[in-house]
Amino acid sequence: MAEPKEDQEQDLGPLPCSPCRGTGKLNSNSGGEPHSVDCPWCEGSGVLIPDHDAQAAQRPEGEQLNEKPQPAVD
Ligand SMILES: [Zn+2]
Repeated sequence: MAEPKEDQEQDLGPLPCSPCRGTGKLNSNSGGEPHSVDCPWCEGSGVLIPDHDAQAAQRPEGEQLNEKPQPAVD
């Protein structure tokens, strides 16, 4: 019989995005009036993206980082 694992690592799964509280939307006052915009932290998905650079989305065009090739993971 398999014993129940009581000390297994917590698997919280995808973390909800804190800035938008998992809604994927943020209220922005830019432009003079409040409006809903896609959350730059989760790109509107509502799920926190690890190591995602939200500031990058707010940079003017022309400063895009070179995409790094993804290592094959099996
Ligand atoms: Zn978000």
